[in-house]
Amino acid sequence: MFDIQEIRSQFSILDQHVNSKQLVYLDNAATSQKPNSVLEVCHKYYTELNANVHRGIHTLSQLATEEMEIARRKVQKFINAKYDFEVIFTKGTTEGLNLIAYILTQKLKKDDEIIISYLEHHSNIVPWQLLCERTGAKLRVIPIDEEGVLQLDYLDKFLNEKTKIVSVNQVSNALGIINPIEEIIAKTRKNTNAYIVIDGAQSAPHFTIDVQKLDCDFFVFSGHKMYAPMGTGILYGKQEILEDLPPFHGGGEMISTCSFDGTTYAGLPFKYEAGTPNVGGNIALGAAVDFIYKVGQDNIQIHENNLLEYAQKKLLEIENIKIYGEKAKRTGVVSFNLEGVGISSDVGMILDKLGIAVRTGHHCTQPIMDYFNIAGTVRASFAVYNTLGEIDLLVEGVKKAQRMLS
Ligand code: PMP
Repeated sequence: MFDIQEIRSQFSILDQHVNSKQLVYLDNAATSQKPNSVLEVCHKYYTELNANVHRGIHTLSQLATEEMEIARRKVQKFINAKYDFEVIFTKGTTEGLNLIAYILTQKLKKDDEIIISYLEHHSNIVPWQLLCERTGAKLRVIPIDEEGVLQLDYLDKFLNEKTKIVSVNQVSNALGIINPIEEIIAKTRKNTNAYIVIDGAQSAPHFTIDVQKLDCDFFVFSGHKMYAPMGTGILYGKQEILEDLPPFHGGGEMISTCSFDGTTYAGLPFKYEAGTPNVGGNIALGAAVDFIYKVGQDNIQIHENNLLEYAQKKLLEIENIKIYGEKAKRTGVVSFNLEGVGISSDVGMILDKLGIAVRTGHHCTQPIMDYFNIAGTVRASFAVYNTLGEIDLLVEGVKKAQRMLS
């Protein structure tokens, strides 16, 4: 049974007024709110369990280690990784992507090619540009059409023996477009030996993920977008690939032996987890996975699709509104502008006065904005606790903004 009021009651933060209006939180693609079960785990950790992991003989250290390793196994199951040591704790998608770009440095040489797409977040662009600067490799970018859909015939043209990395997101954060990653992976595998990286920041909160079925080499996502605390994230990498590649950060935890003559590295996952991890946050990420299971991934998807369909239908009743990617297959996001009426931040400010939190601007995807020749969009993005009633408030708010700004 999917009981939206029961779900909302688990998110105390939603029950408040902002600017004297009931809060309507529609900025979930930036970060989701956290259910009480996740907050309780954080509180319990710091009131009962706080200790550094993996290096203590004392009881608290052992308990904290055990809990963090339980969380790792929860994430392993969540993405269906073959082994728990293929699951590396990070502080988010950005760190995961930078880590991958760094450890692949030795595998690239001048004129090798890295394929990304026009739909990428800056964090799936800049680390590859830096890698190109280090190695002399070149970036190739799959273009989009006017609906924001990837033009995959370009992927066919781009794939060749120089292709060393293909890195794309599963869902675009700016437009909510779902990319055909299964097809992209199949084509890449068929034609190259390239490493395949999937940015799952916007898919992990909404979809069931199966990294073995996908057959990607890396899959990265952020905990804070899927009901877990900020500063948590996951890098999945295939065992043989992570074992073959060098470490990223050097420091404590990641060594097997260390002397002035040299250092040998720990096995997975510790080789990639230098320094003290976010133990409480990682344990709470496990609680966020529990929350998602308890609600049911199918229920989440059905509910969020209903929200998206309803939002799109209602917003399109407004004159002179442009929804980007209107006809594309999408999830969780509606990105729009009022044509001829101010800029997106003006609309966002008026909505904020009404207690409605949306994001405006370029959403860390300037190339998409350049393609559409706009400075930004208004983006409403949904999570499991949003309601159709909140969408009605959004639509009323947008109409009001249009009246005020005309
Ligand atoms: N990729 C995508 C698709 C995203 O939506 C985001 C967050 N907006 C990121 C990467 C970066 O995630 P984080 O800021 O959590 O590192």
